[in-house]
Amino acid sequence: MDAMPAVHPRPGLPTRVSVYEVGPRDGLQAEKAVVPLPVKLELINRLGEAGLEVIEATSFVSPRWIPQLADADDLMAKLERRPGVRYPVLVPNQQGFERAMAAGADELAIFVSATETFAQQNLGTTLDGAIDMAAPVVAASRARGIPVRGYVSMCFGDPWEGRVDPGRPAEVAARITELGCSTISLGDTIGVATAGQVVTVLDQVEAAGVPRNRIALHLHDTYGQALANVLAGLEAGITEFDSSAGGLGGCPYAKSATGNLATEDLIWMLDGLGIETGVDLTALVRTSRWLAGELGRPSPSRVVMALGI
Ligand code: MG
Repeated sequence: MDAMPAVHPRPGLPTRVSVYEVGPRDGLQAEKAVVPLPVKLELINRLGEAGLEVIEATSFVSPRWIPQLADADDLMAKLERRPGVRYPVLVPNQQGFERAMAAGADELAIFVSATETFAQQNLGTTLDGAIDMAAPVVAASRARGIPVRGYVSMCFGDPWEGRVDPGRPAEVAARITELGCSTISLGDTIGVATAGQVVTVLDQVEAAGVPRNRIALHLHDTYGQALANVLAGLEAGITEFDSSAGGLGGCPYAKSATGNLATEDLIWMLDGLGIETGVDLTALVRTSRWLAGELGRPSPSRVVMALGI
């Protein structure tokens, strides 16, 4: 079967969307068995070949936290950069920043939390502490002219606190925008968001002072709502979405094994709406099938499963 849905554009939606691929970092960091460096490099290379223009390559967290990404320095040294492709990396603190700079990174991402409990449980600090830790990294990056994306976790629901008041992500997003983050990625880390809630949160984040063209959505498919939430975001004028090739990566805080929105599922919907992404769906599906073989289990992406290619 052709890897192409019927195309029916709808008025009022963006004509082009930026897909921010998180598989090599957010996806792989959830893998227990360490994936060999050549496989990671081939994955990043194939994603670029498939037309993805932004590929988050790795994270400069302490190897003690995430042994899977202990090869970040090596990976950046061996990465074959394709013209026109950006390779941002995640940095948790000043030490990670120094490593990322030494490794030649030219675009960064930092992360904070919209909730107090997640900051304490996952980041080992407080909500304010996480922002304080990010502040010098953002300042140092700006001084070098390096763009920094800010991830805000738990914008919609929190495994300990339950529903999250939309005022929380709005306040945190505004604070890290003020620090100098160029894009704010609002994370539905446990995948509990619903379509109307997405619009409410976007309205509040914008009202807090973050322009809509600087907001990205990072949605998870735990309850099967990720694409409905993307559509709500598109209708609200969002033009950047995070996704993971083959749906790679689970969330340890969600009960289901389903994690990141699969890039294939996102592209199928965007292709169907006639929204340009630059991504070749067939090449992407082949990449995820190849990776599934390397990891020894099938991709959870519905589109990868449906397309027998
Ligand atoms: Mg994720």
